[in-house]
Amino acid sequence: MPQALHDRLNVALLITALAGLASGLVLMLAGQAQLATLAWSAGVIPVLAALLVEIVRSLSKGEVGLDIVAALSMSAALFFGETLAAAVVALMYSGGTFLESFAEGRARREMTDLLSRVPRTATRHRNGALEEKPLDDILPGDLLLIRQGDVAPVDGTVQSQRAMLDQSALTGESMPVRLDDGDEVMSGSTNAGDAFDLRVTRRATESTYAGIVRLVEAAQTSKAPMARLADRYSLLFLGVTVVIATAAWWLSGDPIRAVAVLVVATPCPLILAVPVALVAGMSRAAHYGVLIKGAKPLEALARIKVLVLDKTGTLTDGRPQIVAIEPLGAVTADAVLALAASLEQASKHPMARAIVGAARARSAVLEIPQQVLEMPGEGLAGMVGRHQVVAGSAGFVAARIGAATPESQIMAVGSALVAVAIDGQLAGHIVMADALRAGTPGLLAGLRGVGISRIVLATGDRQAVAEAVTQGLELDAIHAELTPDQKVALVLAERERGPIMMVGDGVNDAPALAAADVGVAMGARGAAASAEAADVVLLVDHLNRLLPGVEIAQGARRIALESVVAGIGLSVLGMIAAAFGYLTPVQGALLQEAIDVAVILNALRALRITPRSSALPIGEPRT
Ligand code: ADP
Ligand code: MG
Repeated sequence: MPQALHDRLNVALLITALAGLASGLVLMLAGQAQLATLAWSAGVIPVLAALLVEIVRSLSKGEVGLDIVAALSMSAALFFGETLAAAVVALMYSGGTFLESFAEGRARREMTDLLSRVPRTATRHRNGALEEKPLDDILPGDLLLIRQGDVAPVDGTVQSQRAMLDQSALTGESMPVRLDDGDEVMSGSTNAGDAFDLRVTRRATESTYAGIVRLVEAAQTSKAPMARLADRYSLLFLGVTVVIATAAWWLSGDPIRAVAVLVVATPCPLILAVPVALVAGMSRAAHYGVLIKGAKPLEALARIKVLVLDKTGTLTDGRPQIVAIEPLGAVTADAVLALAASLEQASKHPMARAIVGAARARSAVLEIPQQVLEMPGEGLAGMVGRHQVVAGSAGFVAARIGAATPESQIMAVGSALVAVAIDGQLAGHIVMADALRAGTPGLLAGLRGVGISRIVLATGDRQAVAEAVTQGLELDAIHAELTPDQKVALVLAERERGPIMMVGDGVNDAPALAAADVGVAMGARGAAASAEAADVVLLVDHLNRLLPGVEIAQGARRIALESVVAGIGLSVLGMIAAAFGYLTPVQGALLQEAIDVAVILNALRALRITPRSSALPIGEPRT
């Protein structure tokens, strides 16, 4: 059934149930007891019929839900003449679906906000005039006018003296940031200052915001597994209910007691408490710049014990600087840089960007590379003019040229290394400094504080480099010179120790992200493959988002479990009271209604989880 029709049917059922209950009460007060019974029954029957259809449909799919208890209690109440109780249950059941859409909508609000802000058009400068164009027509190089309050529709750079941007939808940072001429603007940020011009660098579909929107949409359609978990327990609950109801009837000889038990056992909105809490947690996390792609990853995130971190771009900020070029043999340092940079134009790797940038800064002439072959996370090879050039990790270059490469003599602390071979000969090393992200030691301590007991580094870089960079960090192990499939093997091996989270940024990390219980990708931009493979995306390229992400996941899961345990526990107490005759069916129905509302309100508390870590001074997001 299409959703709209489904919604309308639900409204119709709710109105029927409400009308039946209300008119029955009026008739009752008017002394028309028989007519009242008729009105109540009339309100119940359509709801019960719809419910039975629903049950048959889910049974045919092999699903046993708590809906069965609701159907049992309504039919038993009708059968034994407890029509008022039946009417209350019917109202509760049809109202439950409403409560569901209300609570879900509330819980998803923060995520939906991201989607509803997507601009459809942009204002472009053209021949001294302005024109309004659909986003698809906007190309790199175009100059756009971003008015105050506008959302930047594509990625670009500031072409004005300055700009103030509010990136809170992307990062959760409420303070607007100031950008100067030439600074990068992430699409999805809002212009919080005066109008400015934006030079487009990426088409809309390749921009940050489009990536985020795709991810959010995918996350929204995922199902909550805890809802299924509630269904799994529902068989047990169903059994217990039927046993208590039958025993009460048997021992007292009074079928009304069985009806009372069934009515108390009808936990319609209770089933909703779990998804509400989890979706609220996802929404809350999005507020902190952490996109959790569904309830299942959220649950997994709450239980992580082992953390595997990638180095370049994850633990380090992925903006390496060249600190030295060490030529070998007859080639000059400038020639090594020019050839390597020509080749690196074909790669999106952070080191490639740094090398190309440095060469441009020194006004080197770059050629277009031909026949390029890239091994993600290892390096690349291709033709530059007449030269066969290889650039990458020492191991990769050695394998390509079929000869061992001597160690670099210069090893600055906190550096990374790119070996360059020209025409089959090692021609030099480019030594790069790639600093740790600010606040990393505090972040690792914080992660241990929330229950992560083992933290391991996995890098494609060399051991010596990895050790130098991570000096002073509390790591349990360092694994270096790993290819993408060795990263997967490492994740699988470490997984033996407990639920595992892998954090990475590159295309080369994508398989390992998929292999982990929770794969976390850094930033939605750039290496889209890792963001697609991941279960969690840190929308800002900043590792410190990890801690609030874990804390919120733990909080939401705790609230979900709390809701289930408290709700079911109270229901069972009520059932026992009903079995011993302390509750009439009508009282039971009202009691259960109160429990359900309380439990759902409790679940919505997940919207207000405030991670303790936000107080940690672990560096602000870069701008
Ligand atoms: P990490 O696993 O720490 O994130 P990467 O897997 O991204 O690091 O890269 C590992 C090593 O592979 C780098 O230190 C570098 O030597 C080499 N490498 C990977 N890609 C390139 C490239 N495009 N150009 C040069 N070297 C590269
Ligand atoms: Mg990396």
